[in-house]
Amino acid sequence: MDYQAVLEEVAAQVRPQIGCGQVAQYIPALASVAPEQFGMAVVDVEGGVHGVGDWEVPFSVQSISKTFTLALVLARDGEKIWQRVGREPSGNPFNSLVQLEYEHGIPRNPFINAGALVITDRLQSLTGDASSTLLEFLRTESGNPDLGFNPAVAASETDNGDRNAALAHFMAAYDNLENLVPSVLEHYFWQCSVEMSCRDLALAGRFLARHGLRADGSRLLARSEAKQVNAVMLTCGTYDAAGDFAYRVGLPGKSGVGGGIIAVIPGRCTLCVWSPGLDERGNSVAGVAALDRFTTLTGLSVF
Ligand code: GLU
Repeated sequence: MDYQAVLEEVAAQVRPQIGCGQVAQYIPALASVAPEQFGMAVVDVEGGVHGVGDWEVPFSVQSISKTFTLALVLARDGEKIWQRVGREPSGNPFNSLVQLEYEHGIPRNPFINAGALVITDRLQSLTGDASSTLLEFLRTESGNPDLGFNPAVAASETDNGDRNAALAHFMAAYDNLENLVPSVLEHYFWQCSVEMSCRDLALAGRFLARHGLRADGSRLLARSEAKQVNAVMLTCGTYDAAGDFAYRVGLPGKSGVGGGIIAVIPGRCTLCVWSPGLDERGNSVAGVAALDRFTTLTGLSVF
């Protein structure tokens, strides 16, 4: 497969959509990102790296970080985590409160904010420093030691974090947090503020295409656990548009409000696409279109 040629064709086909949608507004530090940007990377299981457009420009990973924290907790804790968080699509916005009350403080899945807070809480208990553990992992897997947090984004999220704080307090009231709410929130906001390029993210997510094997060949996840993470990405990874994403793209994917999306073709490659303009569900307009084009042009998908 000539991934480079495919990427160039995809970039040409989605050009009209670049700049469409709205850059995330509710985190003021993200609202100033220039919308007219687009990058896409593919890293294959043999280590081939391909990219097009702004694929080496760092952006705010936001909810894409939730994929990695889930993997890090599964690697240490296995199945136990599923007693505290479900794995069903929520059908609700990612920061919704209502479902939590009906379901007694157990979030629907690890990719809505409430579920991600539970995962961060567990990673904090297991490691003593959830956000640094994540950053170290991302640096190692991407081979980029310069990756870091963006303190302005983390501060902006803290200043506008009432909804996430409400979710965390609510779960604490149901005894579904092990650490104090302020510490869980702090690590969650730091994890969301990490800045990475499409290249970095595709490299860091390569273990998902390699059935759990890390860059150095050691095992992060059992093969079945890598399958589980990919399955939850497919069903829950793109907010309450996961059905539409599966229909259009046909791959496990996880998006973030920074405009990035990672997607996985198990056994073949990991992709990352970025364009900051979001649709009303919170997914990158040009990003989803590019993945749609990629799977259509190549015939590659999990179906
Ligand atoms: N840090 C963001 C929040 O908690 C993440 C949102 C996202 O990317 O889905 O609101």
